[in-house]
Amino acid sequence: MIAENLQKILSQLPPQVTLVAVSKFHPSDAIREAWAAGQRIFAESRPQELFAKQEELKDCAGLEWHFIGHLQTNKLKMVLPYVSLVQSVDSQHLLDAIEKWAAAAGQKVSVLLEMHVALEESKQGFYEEEILELLLRATGDGAYSHIRFCGLMGMATNTDDAEQVRADFTRVRSYMDYLQDLFPELTEFKILSLGMSADFPIAVECGSTMVRIGSAIFGERG
Ligand SMILES: *Cc1c(COP(=O)(O)O)cnc(C)c1O
Repeated sequence: MIAENLQKILSQLPPQVTLVAVSKFHPSDAIREAWAAGQRIFAESRPQELFAKQEELKDCAGLEWHFIGHLQTNKLKMVLPYVSLVQSVDSQHLLDAIEKWAAAAGQKVSVLLEMHVALEESKQGFYEEEILELLLRATGDGAYSHIRFCGLMGMATNTDDAEQVRADFTRVRSYMDYLQDLFPELTEFKILSLGMSADFPIAVECGSTMVRIGSAIFGERG
């Protein structure tokens, strides 16, 4: 079933779009099944769960983890050593803590900045002007020399209104274009992570380069 679901989703994605399998709340056996079917990138949203699963799945060659949830600064050591990308950086406080951790560890951490576009106030993320300010600092005074800025992540409003979803995605896409023009020195600022199970076809139409899909692969979460 998981293999068929993966196949079906991949057949709908243009080749330049990366599929991230969101495995939160699903057991390691399900991840192993997806890995055996060829899927390599998985994402988790809770530090403890990520930590436990990466331990259990260490033997899966080539398996990569992304973090997509709200990350508290006291949980960094449970997450940062194990992930190739933190997609959900949503505050300067968190970014500062990641910089500090990375400097101490002698590593560079790849991140996406989460942009707030949904109508729900409750959703996390930066507003446009905060992202601009951050990247001006990053490129101006080298404040974040241990951070690799790889792009933006966004979540659309939770609604059946496809036009609202399209408007949300388009807003992130447009801001990405603007930032790429403004900061050509950020040569790795290329990933636009938009789209989940319910809305990824719209996201792809809006220029997404990375989709984060959970339930359409693994089924509903318990
Ligand atoms: C859970 C989650 C997803 C996947 O959602 P599905 O609807 O199951 O595809 C994608 N992105 C983030 C940030 C999530 O927390």
